[in-house]
Amino acid sequence: MAILVYLLGFIAIPALIFYYHHAKYRRDYPLTLEMYLAQHPECKTDNGYKCSGCGSKSLRNLGYGGAEAKRRMISCNHCAKRLYRVEN
Ligand SMILES: [Zn+2]
Repeated sequence: MAILVYLLGFIAIPALIFYYHHAKYRRDYPLTLEMYLAQHPECKTDNGYKCSGCGSKSLRNLGYGGAEAKRRMISCNHCAKRLYRVEN
């Protein structure tokens, strides 16, 4: 019985929580940079990328779950459109 509690509490529930957050991250930012540029090739410029919504080059790069997070969310600083994700 104790092993079941251990498995549930320390493995299954954290795995579900991790899966939920990962799924939400991918739902909020469905495109990778490659997919984004395939859909919006005009958004690649000589010195970076720009927003497909308003054309602004000012992009916001925030960590998902903290400033140092490896999963990054790239959105537009001007119109707040969610552009793509970067997973290092
Ligand atoms: Zn924009």
